[in-house]
Amino acid sequence: MTFESLGLNTSIIKALTDAGYTAPTPVQMQAIPAAIEGKDLLVSSQTGSGKTAAFMLPSLHRLSLEGEQSAAGKTANQEMQAARARGERPRFKAAQPKMLVLTPTRELALQVTSNTDKYAVNLRRLKAVSILGGMPYPKQMQLLAKNPEILVATPGRLIDHMESGKIDFSQLEILVLDEADRMLDMGFIDDIEKIVEATPSTRQTMLFSATLDGVVGNMARRITKNPQVIQV
Ligand code: AMP
Repeated sequence: MTFESLGLNTSIIKALTDAGYTAPTPVQMQAIPAAIEGKDLLVSSQTGSGKTAAFMLPSLHRLSLEGEQSAAGKTANQEMQAARARGERPRFKAAQPKMLVLTPTRELALQVTSNTDKYAVNLRRLKAVSILGGMPYPKQMQLLAKNPEILVATPGRLIDHMESGKIDFSQLEILVLDEADRMLDMGFIDDIEKIVEATPSTRQTMLFSATLDGVVGNMARRITKNPQVIQV
């Protein structure tokens, strides 16, 4: 099987070829066509299975089909620059991401972001940024002011920004919970529930976890609609 046969566009395929990926892994073969169709996914898979590309490639494909990031977002950034140029203190407008990936750890978030940059290298419009605990707030505000299409975040820090009005999820189209079982083990359940509630119910949801039993299975079924279940 090839990446072409999974339905990905040529800009993404070129990036994969340049990255040395010759064929999709089993989880990618199953997840990519369903995710391109917009289906919700519950995927039981391990680290090293190629799960990041399994959710990111179809998401980039879908987001690249859309028009420019809302004029409002770009204008907000320009307005802020203009205000600064006038010596005024700019008013911060909330970022309106199209995609959110939640991860349990900073390390995983950084890995997801760097893989995304690699896969999206020929999709100049699509930018991913990490929002992490421990990162200085001014730096994160700068990243959010660019109104990135894709946020990759650990739940705690994301909640801080959400509650202070820096992020508005009303335009969110795709939500991914990566290593959901680990996030629950780390006590992030309330944060996750709050974040999910802030997103539109029309979103596409993809949940990846080593196990889909017990608490994680319950949450998975609550936050997805008619999901395709994939076990690899
Ligand atoms: P992950 O399971 O997402 O952490 O991916 C594990 C490693 O496999 C990462 O270093 C990816 O860059 C790499 N990888 C993912 N998909 C493929 C593929 N189809 N071919 C070759 N390497 C891949």
